Amino acid sequence: MSEAPALILPEKSRSIAADLRRRLGPDKVKDDFPTITAYSVDASIYKVVPKAVVTAETEDDIAATIAYAVSAGVPVTPRAAGTNLTGSAVGEGIILDCGGMTRLLELNVEERWARVQPGLNLTEFNKKLEPHGLMFGPDPSSRDMCKLGGMLSNNSAGPHTLRYGSVKENVHAIRIHLSSGTWLTAEVLADGDPATEAVLASQPALAETVALVRKHADLIRSKKPRVSKNSSGYNLFGLVDGLDQGIVDLPKLFVGSEGTLGVISEATLKLVDRPIQTATALIHFRHLEDVGQAVFDLLPLTPMALEVMDANTLNLIGRAAHGVPADAAATLLAEFDGTVGTGGASAGPPPPGMGLSIPAILDRVTAICRKYRLCEDPTVAVEKEHQEQLWKARNALYPTLYRYDPKKKPINYVDDVVVAANRITELMRYLAGFFKGQEVNVAVFGHIGNGNAHIVPLLDVNDRHDFEAMVAGYHEIHETVVTRFGGSICGEHGDGRVRAEFLPRYFGEDLYRLFKQVKAAFDPTGILNPGVKISDTPFTEHIDYVRLSKPCATCGKCNSVCPVYDVFQSEDMSSRGWFEIVTAPGYDYLNSKRVVEACVNCKSCRTVCPAGVDVSDLILQKRAEHPNKLAGLLFGLQGQPWLFEPFIKLLGRTQGLWDRPLPRKVLEQALAPILHQLASTARLPAEMVLPKLAPRLLRERYAELTEEQGHRGPVAYFHGCAANYFQDGVGDAMIAVLRRNGVEPVLPRQRCSGTPIETYGHVDRVKDCARFNVDSLSRYETIVTGCASCTLMLKDYPKWFQGEERRRAEAVAEKVRHVSEVLAGEGLKAAPTRPCGKTVTYHSSCHLRAAGVTKPPRDLLKRIPGVRYVEMRDADRCAGGAGTFLVKDYATSQKIFERKRAAIRDSGAEVVATSCPACMIQLKNGLRGEVEVRHIAELLRDAYQ
Ligand SMILES: Cc1cc2nc3c(=O)[nH]c(=O)nc-3n(C[C@H](O)[C@H](O)[C@H](O)COP(=O)(O)OP(=O)(O)OC[C@H]3O[C@@H](n4cnc5c(N)ncnc54)[C@H](O)[C@@H]3O)c2cc1C
Ligand code: SF4
Ligand code: SF4
Repeated sequence: MSEAPALILPEKSRSIAADLRRRLGPDKVKDDFPTITAYSVDASIYKVVPKAVVTAETEDDIAATIAYAVSAGVPVTPRAAGTNLTGSAVGEGIILDCGGMTRLLELNVEERWARVQPGLNLTEFNKKLEPHGLMFGPDPSSRDMCKLGGMLSNNSAGPHTLRYGSVKENVHAIRIHLSSGTWLTAEVLADGDPATEAVLASQPALAETVALVRKHADLIRSKKPRVSKNSSGYNLFGLVDGLDQGIVDLPKLFVGSEGTLGVISEATLKLVDRPIQTATALIHFRHLEDVGQAVFDLLPLTPMALEVMDANTLNLIGRAAHGVPADAAATLLAEFDGTVGTGGASAGPPPPGMGLSIPAILDRVTAICRKYRLCEDPTVAVEKEHQEQLWKARNALYPTLYRYDPKKKPINYVDDVVVAANRITELMRYLAGFFKGQEVNVAVFGHIGNGNAHIVPLLDVNDRHDFEAMVAGYHEIHETVVTRFGGSICGEHGDGRVRAEFLPRYFGEDLYRLFKQVKAAFDPTGILNPGVKISDTPFTEHIDYVRLSKPCATCGKCNSVCPVYDVFQSEDMSSRGWFEIVTAPGYDYLNSKRVVEACVNCKSCRTVCPAGVDVSDLILQKRAEHPNKLAGLLFGLQGQPWLFEPFIKLLGRTQGLWDRPLPRKVLEQALAPILHQLASTARLPAEMVLPKLAPRLLRERYAELTEEQGHRGPVAYFHGCAANYFQDGVGDAMIAVLRRNGVEPVLPRQRCSGTPIETYGHVDRVKDCARFNVDSLSRYETIVTGCASCTLMLKDYPKWFQGEERRRAEAVAEKVRHVSEVLAGEGLKAAPTRPCGKTVTYHSSCHLRAAGVTKPPRDLLKRIPGVRYVEMRDADRCAGGAGTFLVKDYATSQKIFERKRAAIRDSGAEVVATSCPACMIQLKNGLRGEVEVRHIAELLRDAYQ
């Protein structure tokens, strides 16, 4: 067998989704433009457009999809988070997305194992394990995005593989569906045992594979990679090793098989103890040669991780931005724990460094470093936050490289080689020479302790010179790694579509033939992920030349914070997917309205994107091409204060009458057809807790502070719509705390900042508001806000203007401060004295985070006497209110809130504080008095009384 046969018949392709819907029901199968587009990419350089996508929820869904695919001859590509770098989660037939199977099924703390579903994200998994002092050892840098199914299938690894090994060393069992239609529990069996024989008898493909391995054991042994990591080929080496020890080690066969042998529905994973304390050292070397020797000196201290970045990598990500000295030739990150190892994968007798305390280890690190020519003393971090800061650049390295040049992009085609650890500086020197000869800029970084180098050249693949350099480099570097260094072409990323072509050269024709026999045994019809791992298709096939000129690295980091993805776990309902959809050539608002209107505009994607992409902004631009008519009418009404404000006050005065269960039910019915014009999901549910509307607006209650009444001063309080129209205590508290701190704020003339208007596409109206506000605010020295969205919008005003208007908007933006920024530090002139006496946690509003304000609100809360501050889990995640999204799609907004509710509950807080009146609406509605909801200004005001 060579390549899988041509599988999809032309007449079949249109009926695939319909066939699948008949078997799986309408909700789990999609083939519309946005879905197909979002699933046509992963984090690799490839694009393959599928015919249909199945979002599996159960084992039955998996079995039904495979049965159909076998019967109809349609390829199936299993998928988890789609963050692989090799094109192994894209395919031309059915994408079987198991990413929605996210459950932790069983946890045995005593025996340190867990049974999981393939869609569980690694960081989420580790969060669940943290209270038990446990974690999963292997940790790819993509840990916030990737899922366990993908990690298992790629045999992923990461910085801590040095201590814990790759995934293959951390698995007890895998439950996998085979194309024969049967389920197999792949676990470690005793060779020759009757039970083992029974398993083999019931699974002919397995029996054939084990027989092949026995027969060719010598060949397999002779070809076994002699380096510490390998994820290339099928792991027949692990099977032979097992047989040599009297076991049939089945997990070894399936870990790293990249969805080409079956579909995983469950796995039982080994867990390790979470280190009690860790320390990170950041060491900048002036000479590359010193790094190799230093690594050798550090290894006896049993580091958990040793990561290197070469000089060019440091240049490309920007030395100044990351505080890297100009003369650093390489930077080493070393992480240590002070405890004895837990018997992870690479456990042997404890080496001499084990058991030392953290200070003792750090003393030794300092002593070792003295031997070398460093740019400066090593930076050492023991606090979690500081350590995360040191790791930040390394973890986001690959997508950060996307910022470097609009055309030359980091291309993964020789990205994952492994050599003996003591030869890695030799490898780096060879690579520097090679790429210099090609006149190609390249970043080389990686897990130096394992000899695993990630080589990421920056190329414009649409340019002939660069394309040829890529093809030549692919062959030359892989060849050199294999022949001169005796290394592996793949440590952890998998073969995928990238390395498949090179496998016969790497392993030799005989072993490669054996791989093909194994593949044919498990997948005789060739439907399982064809084109991946076992394929003679050149690696240049399916390269996405269009996408590689776009700014998005498709790394998926934004998906990890996107609240909509969190709920739907599906690529067409995700930030990364939306980038792909709205920038695709076939995009049209009408064929993609469903997804374009689903973004809550939380801006979390923009906050985390290492490549500097703002997906939310792109989506808003698309909405602006089709502004919502009803929203236009409502904002038009709001723009007529003489009409709008009396109406609000009337509603405020009569709220006691109409805001009761029965009238609200009537109101819900009456408003339904009108709100339908906003979105098909829009409604004002009778059960939703509404904010208290103001019978007298804030500007009327504090008329003496308004500009209209002649009040003047250097500080303006931009209250925005919520604090003016709702009597929720925020505006009063803001004014009270500013006054206590010696500021008599002016309430300047103002219009809506524009945030809600922008979300409905009315950009001209946003510009009008912005223009009015810039005019009005220009004369003040400081503009204080109490609302997260107003803060961000005012700071973002320059984006709406050009020339002189832009300069004025920039000047205003410079002066905008959230109240927490104004009062943190020296700004808090009057010390609050009245003890609060409550446990308080903080919900960090998304727009304030996007405006870069995260620490001041927390610092301010901690300065209130008697506050027992607890940081809640997921403080930085969207609560789902998102301004009017709550009304636009109440059901989704409540699903998003579930996670926040759990985090607040688990924190044990009596009060949840926030910095935004809009978030307060969602929090109050979701918590229903279970936990008190307060703006930080209110808590501070109370502490003054
Ligand atoms: C910025 C960045 C950094 C990275 N750093 C690392 C790193 O440090 N170490 C590392 O090892 N990798 C790294 N990767 C690569 C990638 O994140 C990992 O390989 C990851 O484990 C893939 O997981 P996933 O959930 O995204 O899987 P996917 O990409 O969805 O799938 C990967 C493979 O698994 C198969 N698969 C998925 N689910 C199933 C299933 N249920 N049954 C059978 N097969 C299945 C797919 O068909 C595919 O072949 C990085 C990627 C990025 C973008
Ligand atoms: S938008 Fe940014 S974070 Fe999201 S996939 Fe693209 S590069 Fe990654
Ligand atoms: S703004 Fe929020 S909801 Fe929209 S794409 Fe970004 S993260 Fe997702």
